[in-house]
Amino acid sequence: MPSTLLILASKLGYQTRAFAEAAAELGLNVAYGTDRCHQLADPWGDHALPLQFEDPEASARQVVEFARATPLAGVVALGDRPTPTAARACAALALPFHPASAADVCRDKYSSRTVLRQAGLSVPDFARLPITAELASACATAAGQSISFPLPWVIKPLSLSASRGVIRADTRALAAAAFERVRALLRSPEVAALRDPASAFIQVEQYVPGVEVAVEALVERGQFKLLAIFDKPDPLTGPYFEETIYVTPSRLPAAVQQQIAEAVSGAVRALELRHGPLHAELRIELEPASTTARHLWIMEVGARCIGGLCARSLRFVTEPQSGTAASSAPEVKILPPSPEKGEDSTQGAVSLESLLVRLALGHRVSGYVREPQASGVMMIPVPREGIFEGVSGVDDASAVEHVEAIEITAKPGQRLAPLPEGSSYPGFIFARAPSPAQVEAALRAAHSRLRFSISPSLPVFAARSR
Ligand code: ADP
Repeated sequence: MPSTLLILASKLGYQTRAFAEAAAELGLNVAYGTDRCHQLADPWGDHALPLQFEDPEASARQVVEFARATPLAGVVALGDRPTPTAARACAALALPFHPASAADVCRDKYSSRTVLRQAGLSVPDFARLPITAELASACATAAGQSISFPLPWVIKPLSLSASRGVIRADTRALAAAAFERVRALLRSPEVAALRDPASAFIQVEQYVPGVEVAVEALVERGQFKLLAIFDKPDPLTGPYFEETIYVTPSRLPAAVQQQIAEAVSGAVRALELRHGPLHAELRIELEPASTTARHLWIMEVGARCIGGLCARSLRFVTEPQSGTAASSAPEVKILPPSPEKGEDSTQGAVSLESLLVRLALGHRVSGYVREPQASGVMMIPVPREGIFEGVSGVDDASAVEHVEAIEITAKPGQRLAPLPEGSSYPGFIFARAPSPAQVEAALRAAHSRLRFSISPSLPVFAARSR
């Protein structure tokens, strides 16, 4: 029997480690495939298979070749970038995964908006412009022809993630400036090096109002299973859209949560997602009485799980709970539990990574539900641009009731840049409590006790060749 799990990831960070640990607990060996720097032979010493995720056909062939010598029990892809490779490799190896066409569509905000709209689902109005468009003509197009929807607009790249390069513009002049800023970001050496074909375009969308939620779910052999709805209690109104707090279970009325579950399930059908993780974002305009959604837009559906360390805020148990904070979430069919190796012996809980490794192996996971405790994470906002020197107050912040962990991920000397150009948070705060309100309060209290030292960064002068 094959006993190796292949993890495909662009960078080998916290999430990769969490998946590797989950695989080891299940008695599996782990192999990696990555597209990070290949100039040096095996610079990280982990024998990772060197792949090029921008060429999923060729990368999938390499995976199939690799599997001849090392038979694979399953493949997991972390983040959006490796999913087209994973889908093709799994199809060739008869391993369960989303189809390649679905993985491709989910990778691209233009294609996914198009498919969802064609299926009759509600998405913000959108128009795609080539990055090469002259600014004036791009805006002329925006004003006159292809953009038929009113301001405010959201200008965004199609190839980046974590709100990078996403800018709200309330006037034409601001839209033109935002377009220029996104173009410069896409042409920066760091982004250009990714060679993503979607970087050839910039999308202009109608700005849609409302509260926002993130949905963590999975599809198991075609059956949609909702795992958690996260509220985002900080308003996301722009001009930049920095994620901060995620709290689950949602405090939205049960009827609205049901509408959310139905919309995501409809998106799964429209996108033909079949087997694997799923992360979605939705915006909801509530009726004045707030018991139902007046309008609900699907902002994004990724064939991937929640990113980075945030997955730590999720734990799953096999017993359905009742009369708890979790009980307002819409549930899907619960099958009898089957305790397996890899469960947390103290809590009987498993991590999201463990659940997704089991899914990749083809094990049945539909019996798991999120734990009864409310839980949440704060992605600590970048306080200001500069060089991170350190942070004080961590012990004080950790002592806040219900706070479980504080992870400072920034390294001294690292440059921190806020959105829209920046791409990483300085750290994360985790909390668990009986209610979502307590979780949110704990995260805010802990954050207020942290003091970041950031020194001004020296301006970078580009070297010019004559
Ligand atoms: P990313 O994939 O980089 O996270 P998204 O397209 O999901 O980019 O946008 C990031 C955030 O920006 C969304 O979560 C939302 O808060 C905001 N946003 C994006 N598009 C719109 C829009 N059309 N209307 C309102 N807000 C938007």
